[in-house]
Amino acid sequence: MSFQDLSLAERLTVARRGTAYFAQRLAELTDGQLYEPTALDGWSRAHLVAHVGYNAAALCRLMDWAASGVETPMYASAEQRGREIAEGATLNGAALRNLFTHTVARLDKKWRNLPDSAWSAQVRTAQGRLVPASETAWMRTREVWIHAVDLGNGGRFGDFPDVVLDSLLTDIVGMWQKKDLGAGLVLAVDGYAPIAVQPDSPVSEKIGGSLASLVRWAAGRGAVGVSAGGEIPEPPRWL
Ligand code: ZN
Repeated sequence: MSFQDLSLAERLTVARRGTAYFAQRLAELTDGQLYEPTALDGWSRAHLVAHVGYNAAALCRLMDWAASGVETPMYASAEQRGREIAEGATLNGAALRNLFTHTVARLDKKWRNLPDSAWSAQVRTAQGRLVPASETAWMRTREVWIHAVDLGNGGRFGDFPDVVLDSLLTDIVGMWQKKDLGAGLVLAVDGYAPIAVQPDSPVSEKIGGSLASLVRWAAGRGAVGVSAGGEIPEPPRWL
């Protein structure tokens, strides 16, 4: 079952559950812990919270675009996006938490109020892809679930709904294929038919494990619970 097979209402529910999961991890952190580093290069937890907050604000701009037909990009530029996160990461704990809850509430309101007909309106992702406004449900789902793990205080891929794990795997393998990466790599997910990343290339490496552990590895979040012939390799870059 892929995320796209769910009804729009169900997709929004999965995104909201992910937001609640992130919010729970955030609530368990003290203000002091917000400025500790994460496994993401150069980012503290404060960077992550700011990024997740500004991501919701950026998705609000796409909802405005869908509702009005007036092009409103997610971000003015990659530089502006980076600067906003860097500045956001210097906010104090209360302001960061406020940024998160406020932007979440705004996005939720936009989702609730968008007329049915506007969900199919085309908007552009930060990567430049044209997608229907309904894609914002998946864009947000990916962000909140994965970054909840990145907070590094107990979030686990094993807590994700299977439909999120399935669709993440499809996304990641699709990106590798598009970038011509992962030749010879086969993913052997427990209970699934093996997935050859580049079906035309001879098999050189087989990585096995549960769906959750393979998605974690493929997303570049560590090799725990996965097996390979020898040492576990780094996954190809996804984003
Ligand atoms: Zn992100």
